[in-house]
Amino acid sequence: MPKFTPMIEQYLAVKQDVPDALLFFRLGDFYEMFFDDALLASRELEITLTGREGGAEERIPMCGVPHHSAENYIHRLIDKGYKVAVCEQVENPAEAKGVVRREIVRIVTPGTVMDSKAAGDKANNYAVCLAAGQAGYGLAACDLSTGELYAAPLGNSLETLLDELNVYQPSELIGEKALLERLGGMGAGWAKRPVLSYRERGDDELLRRQFSADELDELTAECSLAVSTMIAYLAETQKRSLEHVRQIRVYEPGQFMTMDAFTRRNLELAETARERSKHGSLLWLIDKTVTSLGARRLRRWLEKPLVNREKIELRLEAVQALCLDLIAREDVRGILKEVYDIERLTARIAYGSANARDLLALGQSLKQIPALKGACRSLDSALFAQIAERMDECADVLEWISSAIADDPPVSVRDGGMIRPGFHEHLDRLREAGASGKRWIAELEKQERELTGIRSLKVGFNKVFGYYIEVTRANTGSLPEGRYERKQTLANAERYVTPELKEKEALILEAEEKMVGLEYELFAELRERLAGQIPRLQELAELVADADALQSLASVSAERRYCRPIITDGYDLEIVDGRHPVIEAVLPAGEAFVANDVRLTDGEGRMLLITGPNMAGKSTYMRQAAIICLLAHIGCFVPADRATIPLIDRIFTRIGAADDLVGGQSTFMVEMRDIQTMTAQATKRSLVIIDELGRGTSTEEGMAIAQAVIEHLHHHIGCKTLVSTHYHELAHLEESLVHLRNGCMAVKESGGDVIFLRKLIAGAAGTSYGIHCARIAGLPESVIARAYELLSAAEERAA
Ligand code: ADP
Ligand code: MG
Repeated sequence: MPKFTPMIEQYLAVKQDVPDALLFFRLGDFYEMFFDDALLASRELEITLTGREGGAEERIPMCGVPHHSAENYIHRLIDKGYKVAVCEQVENPAEAKGVVRREIVRIVTPGTVMDSKAAGDKANNYAVCLAAGQAGYGLAACDLSTGELYAAPLGNSLETLLDELNVYQPSELIGEKALLERLGGMGAGWAKRPVLSYRERGDDELLRRQFSADELDELTAECSLAVSTMIAYLAETQKRSLEHVRQIRVYEPGQFMTMDAFTRRNLELAETARERSKHGSLLWLIDKTVTSLGARRLRRWLEKPLVNREKIELRLEAVQALCLDLIAREDVRGILKEVYDIERLTARIAYGSANARDLLALGQSLKQIPALKGACRSLDSALFAQIAERMDECADVLEWISSAIADDPPVSVRDGGMIRPGFHEHLDRLREAGASGKRWIAELEKQERELTGIRSLKVGFNKVFGYYIEVTRANTGSLPEGRYERKQTLANAERYVTPELKEKEALILEAEEKMVGLEYELFAELRERLAGQIPRLQELAELVADADALQSLASVSAERRYCRPIITDGYDLEIVDGRHPVIEAVLPAGEAFVANDVRLTDGEGRMLLITGPNMAGKSTYMRQAAIICLLAHIGCFVPADRATIPLIDRIFTRIGAADDLVGGQSTFMVEMRDIQTMTAQATKRSLVIIDELGRGTSTEEGMAIAQAVIEHLHHHIGCKTLVSTHYHELAHLEESLVHLRNGCMAVKESGGDVIFLRKLIAGAAGTSYGIHCARIAGLPESVIARAYELLSAAEERAA
């Protein structure tokens, strides 16, 4: 073991506590990193690697960043999936005996960062904690930047667990090592690769301090375990108030419509399957929110559709009220434009990181509340009435902010300029003292010019020497003796001070120092006071988010002429002239989307088997049915002329391996496993979509599997089912399965040409038009002719 200097010894001792984080070690005006951390940081941040004598034989690798720009570097590391522990000097170096005492004041991690550039304003950034108890898995999901905390008991189903992870897309996963490692081995069940933070369970004492007894009573044992581990982890990393994390939103997965990761991806809910971009997704289409908190709320609604008819109807009614009233809608949108992210502002206030601009933004937002409340109240909707009813204008909070905070405060809270004149008498007096000193100095130039007769004489200020009187070298001779004390010599000028100037300068500096100190005190006091109002502000944020999300659904419904669906407890699904909302929206100008009906009913067939060639519109038709059902369940109007939508507990979509849009990931084995999950979990209330089942194997086997699966769903489950297949031979099933009907996409042949009409009609397609496709693709005419020859020979043999 080499012998290190005391400072490096201290570094190593601190580093021991945070082996999985990069340690930012404060040395004067810099944060320094050493050893492996330095190698890594210099590479990731592209900063120069240096070395330092540390007592060992070799120089210790070192690199550093200035403390004032550290946040930027920290965020870059966090966005790359690292953790950063910030270690500060916790005693005054002037008073320290030996090495200055240093402590870790905060550990920034991907799941707990307060303002991540990567997540953006419109998305949440979750850390998820998992625990395993006797009754199965428990989940706690927290977005520290908003204060949201969800808890859900997940039972023993690993599928449910993966579904939930897929909803939260956590950037960090916390829990016992064995459990997380087991999940890691499960493959890509969720899209993002989270950072893993191993942690044993937290203590209940901390839990009881954070939440009320009522809140904790609601938790099952495994949820309590997950929440306590989460809180312990947050306490350990943040080392400060978690005042804004105070409400645990408990839910059971069954309270919402279930969709597995594959279905979410296939229906392109929040991002497209191929490019993983928001653009082109369903969320992109329906997101007409004005505020960031509204955008996050809408996304949550889309990820977790309701399955409770009353709740859905409440939203539909609210959407209708705004949808029918253009003026009210524009009014609400106009008001919301002036509302900032109250949720994150509130979180920053609680966390102690809000600056004066944040408070001003909160104030601006609060000013809008009375108008928003009025607009909500005037609408013919029980939900909007509730929102208006619960909306607390927080007029007192607004008054505190507007009386204290200046109109255009700086970003920094340490430079003054935050507090409004007239708010505090002593502060005003200090300001006047400073200002009168400055006025005196402003006058000084004129006086000195008159006194000395030097017309080029200047009075100036710089940070090192303070105020000075500058005289060009040629004129120094004209200065009277005695009064002028030389301070600095320049190339062709001299700078002087006089006793009066020194005196005034001291006055100004002292007043300024006191002013800045007092301003910070007053500001911190106000921030503390606001922190006492967190529950009210959070409740308000909640209501604003709801109003904005409803406004968004109403806006898209009105703009795109959607219709209000009829929600029923029954079985039958009937859509008249339905459209695929996204494809309709992105069709090139001049091309019209062809609307289609969907009828899956007890009386006329629960299952539809769609045959037809490639590119006929089968996949579009089936996805459109699922998306219309989904939109209805979040309380949105739907792209159709009329729609009767029964409550649906799950949507499954399964896509044949060869047809998997995501490409490459899905093998035949995965496809079969997906089918297995579906057959195990679908109920009569589910909507099942099977697109090109059984492609990844031989034709005979593929058809056999497809038929067997269809029969199973038909005999044993009875769910509403849409199946597409290019095996038009399967059409005979209509004869043996009473609940199954055949359908196909209409095609017009004219003069050897094939035109896709995109219209679903009854009956089965006669041919796959595969060879026709080959011709369109430009294969040589001789090959095409030969293929037709072989085909008719085969057909003759079969006949
Ligand atoms: P299939 O699954 O039968 O191969 P798709 O559903 O993928 O066909 O449709 C192919 C393309 O046809 C789609 O990308 C879309 O651009 C267009 N399309 C499908 N259905 C319609 C429709 N109803 N109206 C207009 N265009 C459509
Ligand atoms: Mg298809």
